Amino acid sequence: MTSDVLVVADHRRGDLRDVSLELLSAGRELADAAGGDLHAAVISGNVESFAEDLDREGVDRIHTVAHGEEFNHDVYAQALTAIAEDLAPEFVVAPNSVNGLDYAPAVATRLDRPYVSDAVGLDYSEGTLEVTREMYGSKVETTVDVAEGPFVVSIRGGEWPPAEGVGDAEVSEFDFEVDEDAVRSKVKGFEEVGGGDVDIADADFLVSIGRGIEEEENLELVEELAEVTGATLSSSRPIVDNGWLPKNRQVGQSGKQVTPDVYLAIGISGAVQHVAGMKGADTIIAVNTDPNAPIFDIADYGVVGDLFDVVPALIEEFGGEPP
Ligand code: FAD
Repeated sequence: MTSDVLVVADHRRGDLRDVSLELLSAGRELADAAGGDLHAAVISGNVESFAEDLDREGVDRIHTVAHGEEFNHDVYAQALTAIAEDLAPEFVVAPNSVNGLDYAPAVATRLDRPYVSDAVGLDYSEGTLEVTREMYGSKVETTVDVAEGPFVVSIRGGEWPPAEGVGDAEVSEFDFEVDEDAVRSKVKGFEEVGGGDVDIADADFLVSIGRGIEEEENLELVEELAEVTGATLSSSRPIVDNGWLPKNRQVGQSGKQVTPDVYLAIGISGAVQHVAGMKGADTIIAVNTDPNAPIFDIADYGVVGDLFDVVPALIEEFGGEPP
């Protein structure tokens, strides 16, 4: 076994997902702690172009496996098991995404390794990996000590900074043949949950609306604000539960995790289940009538005020006309 780290890039519909660069940062930290190299694996899709994007400072080697366009559980599990058997890394680090949660336990089982999911912190010293996880909707933080490697972990998006700079990693195609007879699933297409082509997880600027909006017809106010500011509209769960916006717009524990540059929370109280999905935003701005709303505890900027006054003023400030 080496002291190396193997991270697994995530991509969807032709785009490398942000968590891939965050994985590189988490992987580099572990590699530094263990005194090993950082490897990245990228499987399926336009692997050459993904490898270029993944070539950041601190990455030693990138392994590509060209097979099909979309994610396939069986292919990923086979390919990653083969790469891990070849490199013998001390750590395999996957994203805690829908894809990662699909293949990481399978890879751990095939390699007969321990697996810890949904890590928000990793600390390695003297052969023990301490994994920080959040439980009960982020109300409780726990640490799991895994005393014996090698380790397979999946990390939560938005918890590590994206790797930066341009690296000089060696890129090579991994010599691997898919065992087609063992591929039991077939990707027939891709459909976004709730319809629509918006992925709020990829947005840089989110205008997010909560129950403070009161009525469905009032939504046009925040739609106009999103329009004039070039933001993407998202929401808390009650808005989705009411059927006012589709499920793919919901931020939070049972919605999507988002990491925009700016998150503007309007009429959202800041319940733990909501905060679990957006606390990774760079800058959080909150508008709420209640000065004691918990959202102000995590906001960088706050406006204690009525959204029906504040939002029209913002629309005008950005050159628009309130509806
Ligand atoms: P509220 O909590 O009702 O807050 C509305 C806020 O608007 C208040 O703070 C109020 O002061 C303010 N307000 C009212 N009028 C105005 C006005 N005119 N101007 C400005 N501010 C105003 N929630 C999620 O969001 N995402 C999830 O993924 C999620 N998952 C959950 C999973 C589980 C298992 C459970 C139990 C709950 C989950 N929830 C989730 C629900 C969560 O607990 C909260 O109920 C929800 O986030 C509250 O949404 P809200 O902030 O829009 O509404």
